[in-house]
Amino acid sequence: MDYYSEKLQTLIQELSRLPGIGSKTAQRLAFHIVSEPAESAERLASAIADARHSVRYCKRCCTLTDQDLCPICSSPSRDQSTIMVVEHPQDLAAYEKTGKYNGLYHVLHGAISPEMGIGPGDIRLAELMKRLQTEEAVKEVIIATNSSLEGETTAMYISKLIKPAGIKVSRIASGVPVGGDLEYIDEVTLLRALEGRVEL
Ligand code: ZN
Repeated sequence: MDYYSEKLQTLIQELSRLPGIGSKTAQRLAFHIVSEPAESAERLASAIADARHSVRYCKRCCTLTDQDLCPICSSPSRDQSTIMVVEHPQDLAAYEKTGKYNGLYHVLHGAISPEMGIGPGDIRLAELMKRLQTEEAVKEVIIATNSSLEGETTAMYISKLIKPAGIKVSRIASGVPVGGDLEYIDEVTLLRALEGRVEL
């Protein structure tokens, strides 16, 4: 595949490394980028570099933010007694969009999967346990991992870990379809799952 200049070829290769972008789409995007005015391409390049440099994990809940603490963790109006544990920042965003949950979050950045070789040490679980030791206001941990095998395994693991500490642990109801990713589920279902949560 050396029909194109080396630089264009490099751009196509980099784009095709992105999730969901096949080689055809990568070519189309690359052609679009080089045919636009130079300023547009520069804006895109600097937006990518800026985001990459400034976005980091929130020191408290591990979601992605560009401050030490994310807006939720630093808000005095959030209920400090509840922590909802989710797999990904997109799941947090899905619950935030409902506007009905006012507690805190903790983002694991994955789920335990023995099959894939992902153990408890590979997700942000130690950070959660540390919070539970230092944040004395916490009364309930709501586990809102996906209802996939990995999500359920993670929920059981966390519940066993936390319960001896005397903190209430609940799991969102199974209104969420099996294998369903939280970010694709509509608000009504999300709220029903939250309201129908059961204590573990
Ligand atoms: Zn945070």
